[in-house]
Amino acid sequence: MTTFKAFWAEKTEDGYTHSIVERSTDDLPEGDVLIKVAHSSVNYKDALSARCLPGVTRNYPHTPGIDASGQVVSSMSSDFKEGDEVICIGFDLGMNTPGGFGEYIQVPAGWLTPLPDGLSLRESMVLGTAGFTAALCVEKLERMGAAPDDGPVVVTGATGGVGSVAVALLAKAGFEVIASSGKADKVDYLKSLGAANVIGRNELQEENARPMLATTYAHGVDTVGGNILSNVVKSLNYGGSVAICGLVASPAFQTTVLPFILRGVNILGIDSVELPIEEKTANWGRLASDWKLDNLDNMTQEIDLEGISTAVDTIFSGNVSGRTLVTHN
Ligand code: NDP
Repeated sequence: MTTFKAFWAEKTEDGYTHSIVERSTDDLPEGDVLIKVAHSSVNYKDALSARCLPGVTRNYPHTPGIDASGQVVSSMSSDFKEGDEVICIGFDLGMNTPGGFGEYIQVPAGWLTPLPDGLSLRESMVLGTAGFTAALCVEKLERMGAAPDDGPVVVTGATGGVGSVAVALLAKAGFEVIASSGKADKVDYLKSLGAANVIGRNELQEENARPMLATTYAHGVDTVGGNILSNVVKSLNYGGSVAICGLVASPAFQTTVLPFILRGVNILGIDSVELPIEEKTANWGRLASDWKLDNLDNMTQEIDLEGISTAVDTIFSGNVSGRTLVTHN
């Protein structure tokens, strides 16, 4: 039995409270593999869970953290042994299973990816679920045949975690990236990640009753939903695709069938949570090799457990810029 520190979110009559508490590895749920967590990161879902909001965590008190990387302490699975470095994202981690905002997690072996050569534990969590999801978006666009010669690719919510990594990955793959952002002061940041051009979020935000708009983008990565996604779909070139993964603005969007039947456009759904572990592992492998980003530090703030509450506030204020890495001391 080992004691450790964990972020602890509790429901109260008027909402929530949070603290850093001491826990014991005996408190963790049964699982094949006990891991000493080196790093986690702060994602949109962690913000919901940390504030006891609906949609992620059913039972409180709870330790959020949908991402973790660290070292195996003990394992009942022959696939992992003491000292192995591993990544755990998605499945139930941090949702109803105590997550990476604690210094230890215990999980099924089937949730784990061995840390691939070429990626450090730290880099894996700078990417975290958000970066991993950005990679899934790029991979699915590629599978649809998207190529740099097709024309510009728009990324919405571009300064966010998913958006920042999507901008960087698409630029690395040779695409001309148009970053859509609500933050006028982040043009230089987005260009440092590889954006060719930055447009204001308001350009895409207006509700528009027309079923189609002038063709502007070859493809897109949408992290926000709502009117912005509606307008992206209506603005895709013939045969264009948009990978959709998020709902920061709204889970709803409006379209008619016209862009689909007159321009042959495609909507590609992205889920990082229940993606089978073999596909997760393959995707991590690409992030460690041909998709390895050398500008991760440009998009990273590093905090410890004490910094999580402020990071959560930043998410809800829409002021996120890049990724927030959590490092356990
Ligand atoms: P962040 O909080 O890091 O970034 C969201 C970005 O959205 C902000 O930085 C901002 O960028 C933009 N934004 C904020 N408020 C609004 C608004 N009201 N209208 C339009 N845009 C807004 O979130 P993530 O990047 O981590 O996640 C993005 C979305 O993707 C979330 O909905 C998340 O739940 C989802 N997600 C889904 C996954 C999946 O498996 N499908 C996995 C990971 C995330 P800017 O100012 O530049 O416009």
